[in-house]
Amino acid sequence: MKLFRLLPGARVAVLAVLMAGVLTAPLEARTRLKPGFNMISLDQEVQLGREAAADMDRKLPLERNSRLKARVSEIGRQLVRYAPGPRYPYSFKVIRDKNINAFALPGGPIYVHTGVIEAAENDHQLASVLAHEIAHVALRHGTHNASKAMVAQAPLAILGGLIGSGSVMGQLAQMGLAFGANSIFLKYSRDAERQADILGTQMMYDAGYNPEEMVRFFEKLERSHRGRSLEFLSSHPNPGNRSQIVRREIAELGPRRR
Ligand code: ZN
Repeated sequence: MKLFRLLPGARVAVLAVLMAGVLTAPLEARTRLKPGFNMISLDQEVQLGREAAADMDRKLPLERNSRLKARVSEIGRQLVRYAPGPRYPYSFKVIRDKNINAFALPGGPIYVHTGVIEAAENDHQLASVLAHEIAHVALRHGTHNASKAMVAQAPLAILGGLIGSGSVMGQLAQMGLAFGANSIFLKYSRDAERQADILGTQMMYDAGYNPEEMVRFFEKLERSHRGRSLEFLSSHPNPGNRSQIVRREIAELGPRRR
């Protein structure tokens, strides 16, 4: 082979490169996830989230305890370093509410109830909820839902360029797509929940949290909160199946991402 007529030093270098490729390539088999189709631009998505967050901040009892807020923000900050996709302006707020819940708005704002913080036995469990919500943002699940609804409800308006400049939320409201308790933006499919668990598992692992704690936490919550419709527990009628999906992903994670 021509390769081996190279100088001896170069031969060693070529072999080293070839072997390194062989040794590193097959170690990783983690699930690759990509956002679905979307009609809302990234800028509009961020603006939409900001408008919705301003509205939420007025209506919801935000926690003032700065130590609690700092703990949540710090864990969130560690996780978003490993979030794929656009560099969204992620923010983390705590709502004074005993119910175990958390939710994410498009483009970055994430809210977690004090009930979750109290129920979590450690930072890893709290990180599992935040990672799940960050994944919904990174995979653009909210605006993907809205895009599907837009195509179904107002195809002519879209062709006519209704989504242009100005308040995105106002324009979506004209189409009957608004934020609220049962907002289309926050009603994820079972597949979207599965994706959020898988990507959440990956981000936890890369950020140095133990993803096994995600399984432990939602098994604990399923035992104590069976049948309640909470975002973190919603669309997961079979907790055993959910644990299985996360465990399978943990086994495939390979080396940590930097
Ligand atoms: Zn979810």
